[in-house]
Amino acid sequence: VPTLRLDRLLANMGYGSRREVQSLVNAGLVMLDGAEVEDADRRIAVTRDLSERMRIQGKPLDPPPGLALMLHKPLGVTCSHKEAGPLVYGLLPDRWRRRDPAISTIGRLDKDTSGLLLMTDDGNLLHRVISPRANISKRYRVELDRPLRGDEAEIFASGTLMLESEDKPLMPALMEVISETGAYLTLAEGRYHQVRRMFAAVGNHVAALHRDRIGGLTLPEDLGPGQYRLLGEADLALLL
Ligand code: URA
Repeated sequence: VPTLRLDRLLANMGYGSRREVQSLVNAGLVMLDGAEVEDADRRIAVTRDLSERMRIQGKPLDPPPGLALMLHKPLGVTCSHKEAGPLVYGLLPDRWRRRDPAISTIGRLDKDTSGLLLMTDDGNLLHRVISPRANISKRYRVELDRPLRGDEAEIFASGTLMLESEDKPLMPALMEVISETGAYLTLAEGRYHQVRRMFAAVGNHVAALHRDRIGGLTLPEDLGPGQYRLLGEADLALLL
């Protein structure tokens, strides 16, 4: 278990500069296991249960470093730190955006795609999930402009479909018909605008796109657009 000086830990978690954290400690506003912390330079073991054990100004500590969460990404927000306009990071509490290590998305969804988006500050988790070798499946619910022709599932399953300006065929993908213009599409890879380009390749156009599952992790019914939830060990076990 890594240990950090309390002032460094809280500064990294966005609670202020080290000096500001020292002031909080001096004012008796940092509690650990029910007792005031006396020294800002005290070393703290960074464990998951710290949020329950530590209180800052009477409030439970934010999740310590090593967090992972699921967000129901709404339409119209961007998975980028750089672009203008509303960002997925704006859906998290202000203080969480000042953390070091920073929280970033695990993969991306287009601005006009909604659904399950994972985020973490844990580089190992990030790489384990997005590694091409991990082959974690992602399921999308697709609404189309035109009725399905009937041959799409076979083409997508073939492992021979080539997208424009690429030199490697797509891996086999599973398409399940929901209605004349609706389908689930499950992918084991994630190329740029992949779902939209796959349906363009079979003469259709995606009108609406929503991701509802990654690996064994499903977007919960009660998690509305813009809401997020921390992931626990059991969730991560479903994912990996
Ligand atoms: N495929 C797309 O085209 N867009 C997404 O956001 C995700 C998968």
